[in-house]
Amino acid sequence: MKTYYNGDADLDVLKDKTVAVIGYGSQGHAHALNLHESGVNVIVGLREDSSSWNDAEEAGLKVYETSEAAAKGDLVMILIPDQFQKAVYEESIEPNLEEGNALLFAHGFNIHFDQIVPPENIDVFMVAPKGPGHLVRRVFTEGSGVPCLFAIYQDASGTAKDTALAYAKGVGGTRAGVLETTFKEETETDLFGEQAVLCGGASELVATGFEVLVEAGYQPEIAYFECLHELKLIVDLMYEGGIAGMYYSVSDTAEYGGFSRGTRVIDKDTKKRMKNILEEVQNGDFAHEWINENKEGLPNLKKMRKDLSEHQIEKVGKELRSMMDWIEK
Ligand code: NAD
Ligand code: MG
Ligand code: MG
Ligand code: MG
Ligand code: MG
Ligand code: MG
Repeated sequence: MKTYYNGDADLDVLKDKTVAVIGYGSQGHAHALNLHESGVNVIVGLREDSSSWNDAEEAGLKVYETSEAAAKGDLVMILIPDQFQKAVYEESIEPNLEEGNALLFAHGFNIHFDQIVPPENIDVFMVAPKGPGHLVRRVFTEGSGVPCLFAIYQDASGTAKDTALAYAKGVGGTRAGVLETTFKEETETDLFGEQAVLCGGASELVATGFEVLVEAGYQPEIAYFECLHELKLIVDLMYEGGIAGMYYSVSDTAEYGGFSRGTRVIDKDTKKRMKNILEEVQNGDFAHEWINENKEGLPNLKKMRKDLSEHQIEKVGKELRSMMDWIEK
């Protein structure tokens, strides 16, 4: 895989362009401020009643209502939550796109699943930092960057790649390294990762381990520390040194017990079910389900949120975390 660094990207590509960043949330504030400090002409597009309007202005950025920003922008980066992008695009962005403009995303869902169908005479690409917005911003101010992915969906100008790399440089990505992917690959792996491993898999693993200990008569506080609280230490070790690095740092007892028992918790059947989840992502069943869930007002999501809030692990966790001054509220 080729990695692109500062020397592979030229900010001059954006010299006479205006970049409109739509949304000023997690990713939006980081992209807008990093680009601004890289010398790019950035404006921010928000709803008239947006609570972020003042924040963006106080940070020294020019803010316009979304459709006005889209009209002024040569590049329009959509950084509002994925489930609202289609409506905002159709109402405020699409009517303001001109030939030669570029439409940018930080996640491929809406393009890959045909929720947003852009006109053929513009460039469409993705620049996606592989980290949350506050990290993208903080690391940039410290002189470094968060690695980014980029993907070209549509190259009407013939120069979409140069523009994408310039944008990635502006947000600090080329300081760390930028990798190329496709909208399909980014979208499908992102959904699979959060469902099977990061959010879904990890949460169920933690909650089930907690339940097993509590049902066996152990104190819920102790079960919380063992199954949830300590996970952070383990994940930090993996993040820094991989799975082997984690096993190096824990005791030999933990290492032997982990190797010999982990494969009994996550086995071939788990892998089969993971493959099934991937198929539902690939064939669009998940996207279809999630789009309908939104249309119906999120009945299942609301129910699952309520069920979780009533789980003992949440109640005991709330009490224990209140003892930990260092955790940001
Ligand atoms: P977010 O929830 O932080 O963004 C919210 C912002 O969107 C608000 O500040 C508001 O300005 C704006 N907004 C909300 N509803 C709106 C509406 N109806 N009309 C206009 N503006 C509206 O979103 P985010 O997490 O920064 O995600 C933005 C994009 O970045 C998504 O495509 C997401 O998949 C992608 N992404 C996010 C992360 C992350 O770490 N959060 C990482 C990589 C990619
Ligand atoms: Mg425009
Ligand atoms: Mg992801
Ligand atoms: Mg995601
Ligand atoms: Mg222990
Ligand atoms: Mg060891």
